[in-house]
Amino acid sequence: MRKGKKNRRVVNLKKRKIPLRRCVSCGESKPKKELIRLVRNTNDEIEIDMTGKVNGRGAYVCRKTECIELAGKSKKLSKSLEKEVPEEIFQELFNLAQTNKEEE
Ligand SMILES: [Zn+2]
Repeated sequence: MRKGKKNRRVVNLKKRKIPLRRCVSCGESKPKKELIRLVRNTNDEIEIDMTGKVNGRGAYVCRKTECIELAGKSKKLSKSLEKEVPEEIFQELFNLAQTNKEEE
């Protein structure tokens, strides 16, 4: 719906497009910064991608211990990446979730 220039300007100011990604655990769509991206990179290794720029198959999980735990238990993360996620990665994810809490 276009109703003249005035209206469009307001929309531009107020609605900045936030790219949403879905957490593999809870299925909620959230802004990227609230999620952690995991990538199965071109070397066929799983890594945590803090830049969001790593090439490969990606999956997202909330920066929350509950979601990370569930992602591990339910194997949702492994399924989504089509590869087993190593224990070290989960350890790192938990660390990240912890760090995030302290910042709040
Ligand atoms: Zn979640």
